[in-house]
Amino acid sequence: MAISKACSIVAFAPLLLLNLLVAPTAAVKVAIIGSGVAGSSAAYFLNKEDPTHEVHVFEQHEYVGGRVKDVYLAGDRFEAGATIVHRLNKHMMGFAKMLNLTEAEPVYVGPSLGIWNGHEFVLRLDSVVGSGAWWARFLDSWVTRMRMLWRYGLSPIWEQQYVTAMLANFTTIYDKIAVTPYASMEALLSDMGLYAPTQRQLAEELLAHGVDPLFINEICVAISRINYGQNTTISGLAGGVSMAGGDGNTVGFAQGLQRIPEGLLALSGATVHLNTTVLSVTTTPKGYKLETTNPQAPNLFDAVLVATPLENAPNLHFNPAVKVPPRKMQTTHATFLRGNLNPAFFGQPSGTDLPKLIATTESPAVNFSSIGVIRAYPDRGDFAFKVFSREKLDDAALDQIFRQRNETVRVEWSAYPHYSAPEIFAPIKFDEKGLLYYINSYENAASATECAALFAENVVRLLLHDLSARKVNACGWRGEEQAFDVTDSGQKTCVS
Ligand SMILES: Cc1cc2nc3c(=O)[nH]c(=O)nc-3n(C[C@H](O)[C@H](O)[C@H](O)COP(=O)(O)OP(=O)(O)OC[C@H]3O[C@@H](n4cnc5c(N)ncnc54)[C@H](O)[C@@H]3O)c2cc1C
Repeated sequence: MAISKACSIVAFAPLLLLNLLVAPTAAVKVAIIGSGVAGSSAAYFLNKEDPTHEVHVFEQHEYVGGRVKDVYLAGDRFEAGATIVHRLNKHMMGFAKMLNLTEAEPVYVGPSLGIWNGHEFVLRLDSVVGSGAWWARFLDSWVTRMRMLWRYGLSPIWEQQYVTAMLANFTTIYDKIAVTPYASMEALLSDMGLYAPTQRQLAEELLAHGVDPLFINEICVAISRINYGQNTTISGLAGGVSMAGGDGNTVGFAQGLQRIPEGLLALSGATVHLNTTVLSVTTTPKGYKLETTNPQAPNLFDAVLVATPLENAPNLHFNPAVKVPPRKMQTTHATFLRGNLNPAFFGQPSGTDLPKLIATTESPAVNFSSIGVIRAYPDRGDFAFKVFSREKLDDAALDQIFRQRNETVRVEWSAYPHYSAPEIFAPIKFDEKGLLYYINSYENAASATECAALFAENVVRLLLHDLSARKVNACGWRGEEQAFDVTDSGQKTCVS
């Protein structure tokens, strides 16, 4: 009996071996470093395209989401990082729908806006009729338009045209990457018609589109400072994405954006290793070996997707080292507090109603980027505020801006790249012959949740494309190049 079983194995051995050798996309083991929107989208798309692969997501924190994260102030939940998405964002809107998230009011409460230059409000757009009726809102929007026309001429129209054209180009890519994934950000952006604006500053781009310098220095600077904590020296593309966030076509979700990476990972079937920092990725003849802070976590993989800016992963090393162009990150302090603004700080008599969103121009006299009311508490007569600033606002600084302050929560972000056109992109593939990819090369184009999801999809498709071209087998994907012997009869055998 034992002999006949042994014989049958010997008889079928060549067939089994042949099967292993010709399987076009045998299941592989994939490590994803980072559980933000990029990492969770990658896990989701990988599972959607081919659920046979074994996927592990490593996250250094005890929570999933990265730069989409809840924060609690006096028991109420707010969002410390990303809060809104544009309605044209196919992936983020689709994820929200798939996860049954409900659309919420815009993040900032109330219709009034003021642009503060450290000495005065250079522009105030207050609600003139103060009613929620449709005719009142219609009238309000016309009064606002007339005020803008008076101050900036036709610049709002030229700026809107610039943003609309950029969004139109952006939306072309969804179909394209489904057909052919891109191996470089330059190729991808060029095909979208969006590489050129990464090479020029936003201010240069807008001037070339006929936008008036006053509009650039007030409105565009104010929006750039809110969204990227930076000036209009950022690239035309990052600036366009930032201004799209101010075009009134954005939406938030009642449950918060952090539900999206959580939901995507739950659907992906990936194993998520929380509190697990990846310390190193070493290329081996068979794939990659990961060293992590969790000895129980698996460490041998066929493919690795890096889904964090490397600047935010200072403990992560690669053997051999990878080459990325130097990139600085912009620090943004998000300060959440309950209280009331101090009109005297803004040169106004006490009792004056201040704008619900205070944006700022670039001036040494201004120590914050924006202050917005994110919730009103009429019963208590105070508000919840979100303050963005480049430097930490200590208690003394806050006590000048706010006449009364009950509770304060501070979050410091290494938030997004400090944009500096012309932008230089890191490679998407770190290992030309292998399966080691860098999703967050995308952030030199623009840091936004939709970009994280879209460029993660591109990398997943690139991985699947590379796998199908490679015939992964028992020797790992490198077997074709390194670990095979060819026998006299012409058959390949794995020698490692
Ligand atoms: C204050 C702020 C406001 C924003 N507002 C918006 C907005 O309204 N709308 C919008 O679309 N975008 C917004 N953004 C941008 C958006 O949040 C980011 O572009 C997006 O969330 C980035 O996702 P990501 O997955 O690429 O990176 P991340 O979210 O940074 O994810 C990377 C993950 O990797 C983990 N990690 C890092 N190193 C390691 C390691 N060695 N081992 C294991 N894990 C590791 C990190 O802990 C993190 O969880 C905002 C950003 C900030 C900071």
